[in-house]
Amino acid sequence: MTLSKDEGGYDLCMKNAIVLVDQDGPLADYRAGICRILKSLGEDPARFKMQTSSTREDLLLAYGQEIADKVDLERNLPGFYDSLEVVRGASAGIKSLLSFGAIPVVCTKPRRENPTCASEKTSWLDRNFPEFEGRYILASDKTLVVGKILIDDKFSITGLVRPSWTHVYFGSRLNVGDEQVPVMNSWDEIHIISNLI
Ligand SMILES: [Mg+2]
Repeated sequence: MTLSKDEGGYDLCMKNAIVLVDQDGPLADYRAGICRILKSLGEDPARFKMQTSSTREDLLLAYGQEIADKVDLERNLPGFYDSLEVVRGASAGIKSLLSFGAIPVVCTKPRRENPTCASEKTSWLDRNFPEFEGRYILASDKTLVVGKILIDDKFSITGLVRPSWTHVYFGSRLNVGDEQVPVMNSWDEIHIISNLI
């Protein structure tokens, strides 16, 4: 069923431009967290390259199963998500979104294997990004969430339905090759979003 204007919802999406923002990658420096674990295991984090949509797969490709298993063990421990640092430029980037008239909403998929991931993610946001004012959605399927744009560092985001949002890839253009997707290399390129809303 499609919501009509009078039923609400539709206007909010179209006029106010909800910008969904993935947490791990664009806001929380997940990669640095993984690199810290790799260092503690005596491995060279420089070999950890983003080659697939899965951290596990990337770890397997670079270090093999034993190290991938050890990293999994560490990132599933309570405290891992709470310890992540804020990505450079993210706070200013969110303020820019607000200045564009956008409504930023965090849309994040908690890691099921980590028992405290969901609660740590929300307390991390409250602590580091009070400007979200509690606007966050924990979603196992992001295609079910309404918005105009989704800023996400995952290459390919699929789910139950065709998404309402345009995916803006957060990361290096080199990772997406020739694909015609909008790319934000970093929060320094926030103008890409202002051109889309
Ligand atoms: Mg992510």
